[in-house]
Amino acid sequence: MADKKIDLSSIKNKGFLPQRQEDMFSMRLKVVGGKVDAEKLREIADAAEKYGYGYVHITSRQQIEIPFVKLEDVEEASYELEKLGLSGGSSGKKVRAVVACQGNTVCRNGLIDCQKLACRIDKKYFGEAVPKKLKIAVTGCPAACMRPQDNDFGIMGTVKPEIFEENCVGCKRCEKACKVGAITVLEDKAHIDTEKCILCGACIAACRKDALRAEKTGCTIFVGGKAGRQPRHGTKLLELADEDQLFSILEKTFEYYRREGLDGERFGELLERLGIEKYREEVLP
Ligand code: SF4
Ligand code: SF4
Ligand code: SF4
Repeated sequence: MADKKIDLSSIKNKGFLPQRQEDMFSMRLKVVGGKVDAEKLREIADAAEKYGYGYVHITSRQQIEIPFVKLEDVEEASYELEKLGLSGGSSGKKVRAVVACQGNTVCRNGLIDCQKLACRIDKKYFGEAVPKKLKIAVTGCPAACMRPQDNDFGIMGTVKPEIFEENCVGCKRCEKACKVGAITVLEDKAHIDTEKCILCGACIAACRKDALRAEKTGCTIFVGGKAGRQPRHGTKLLELADEDQLFSILEKTFEYYRREGLDGERFGELLERLGIEKYREEVLP
């Protein structure tokens, strides 16, 4: 029995999660930003047929799982998939694979290159040890499809619009495009209520007279969010951060979490315990 326990922990480290059925495991494969090449998909499909029941499960965090891998096949399945460049997803007290939407390379609403950013973050931080676990999401615009507010560290593409009055003809296309009523046209000129504006850029896309342009594009950062049994909405830390600022904040956030976090404490719980201001002072430029 003691031997089996030791095996289980090393098996889990390879990305195999014990199932409710004895000696059966669900193999979790790491996927960054939800993107998997077609060639790799074929290999995963082959592995699902060879080691599992011929299907995969896509998790809520864009990871791929092959359920029903038998205990005796775990080593071989793990070795074969690693040879193909597929590694096990992380579990336990570590940084998880970064989730992301397609961003501005595919989605018409996208304001940032989510895939590139997710890969850069993942390369630097995936699997790092933290007091509990750390989930990161990158979403391309305020539609927030990847729910950045439900993650320990959420990144959302945003853009600040700027009006060039001399070009405005008062057509109201921007007013119709704005879903939050932040832009109004008065006396044939557009006006933005910055308190209401969510920095989505829909008005810029709608204007055909070059009267609205992007003054600044960047990332809005949310911290301390989580889903689950005791959900917590992330706190907005900064708007329109550029990539250098973002990585500096990420680095300082890791340092802060590792230094101040108690064993088993999620990042949002740490922020509640010590107060957001202490963290802000440490990480903001
Ligand atoms: S968050 Fe924005 S960019 Fe990303 S998929 Fe949704 S609408 Fe598109
Ligand atoms: S869409 Fe452009 S031109 Fe039309 S009202 Fe808005 S800012 Fe002016
Ligand atoms: S950026 Fe979005 S929220 Fe702000 S005024 Fe334009 S459409 Fe409205």
